[in-house]
Amino acid sequence: MAKPKVAIYWNASCGGCEEAWVDLAEDILKVVEAVDIVLWPVAMDFKLKDVEALDDGEIAGAFLNGAVRTSEQEEWSHLLRKKAGVVIAFGSCAHLGGIPGLANFYTKDDIFDAVYNYLPSVDNKKGTTPQRSTKMPEGELRLPEIYDTVYPLDQVIDVDYYLPGCSPPPELIMEAVTAILSGELPPKGSVLAPAKSLCDECDRNESKPDKIELKELKRPHLTFMDPEKCFLAEGVICMGPATRAGCGQRCIGANMPCRGCFGPTDDVKDHGAKFLSALASLIEINDPEEMDKLVESIPDLTGLAYMYSLASSLLARKKIERETVKA
Ligand code: SF4
Ligand code: SF4
Repeated sequence: MAKPKVAIYWNASCGGCEEAWVDLAEDILKVVEAVDIVLWPVAMDFKLKDVEALDDGEIAGAFLNGAVRTSEQEEWSHLLRKKAGVVIAFGSCAHLGGIPGLANFYTKDDIFDAVYNYLPSVDNKKGTTPQRSTKMPEGELRLPEIYDTVYPLDQVIDVDYYLPGCSPPPELIMEAVTAILSGELPPKGSVLAPAKSLCDECDRNESKPDKIELKELKRPHLTFMDPEKCFLAEGVICMGPATRAGCGQRCIGANMPCRGCFGPTDDVKDHGAKFLSALASLIEINDPEEMDKLVESIPDLTGLAYMYSLASSLLARKKIERETVKA
């Protein structure tokens, strides 16, 4: 009997989600045994025409990581949607926009300026930026269009399931593959991770006092962090209260606070706003000047709260003035 076909593709991502497949260790042999991989550009040499030649819906599951920010990524996403029965947004960037989504604080022109003109390591006296078409003696060279806005996958195509995380942990990947192969899938639109918050499963939760009263916020690299104590209770920003569980407390276990890569729990519309509201409720300052000082003590609080979710948030596309890009 023919094995179910699976496609793995990357859009705007760092490559960490590709590593996540390798992190399956020997379990990857079980996956390879059970499925027929028909696309995995980072590991195998399949071409666009190979995928185009498949029947619509012939791929059992397509795992797409990365946000969408170029015309090429948009075209691949639509093609895989057409060819796959089930599409999984794999990892934070496909799920929420992820770190690439922070570019939505700026315009494409601002980013090109910063990258091609203002970085200290750049020597680009002619101000050359990427062009979509360049005529060369050998012929025309073409590049995809880079969009002004970064999109999570479900703003471009219909997505069936979400595997959260930067990157998704091996256990959740195996559970997702097993669910697709067995056909025992949860309701469409589900995030394939526990519904509770990270605080609910955090080993440090019991160290929290009954009431947290914050008068200052401390940055992780500028303070001692007791490996037994709740970060928030110690005044270190930790996004655990607003973030979905299921990562295995990866950052907490390394004595670093959560930055929210698993995204919000089911009932939360805006991850960053939810976290900021939780944080505000813990602050015990009444003097407005003292409050300003506290806010200013954390550079880029908005970028921190929306580190993984800006592109899928209510802000989605909030432009900050260009001077900030150059700084
Ligand atoms: S705030 Fe962070 S450290 Fe504290 S219980 Fe929640 S996840 Fe754990
Ligand atoms: S602790 Fe937070 S940022 Fe770290 S892996 Fe877990 S969900 Fe992601």
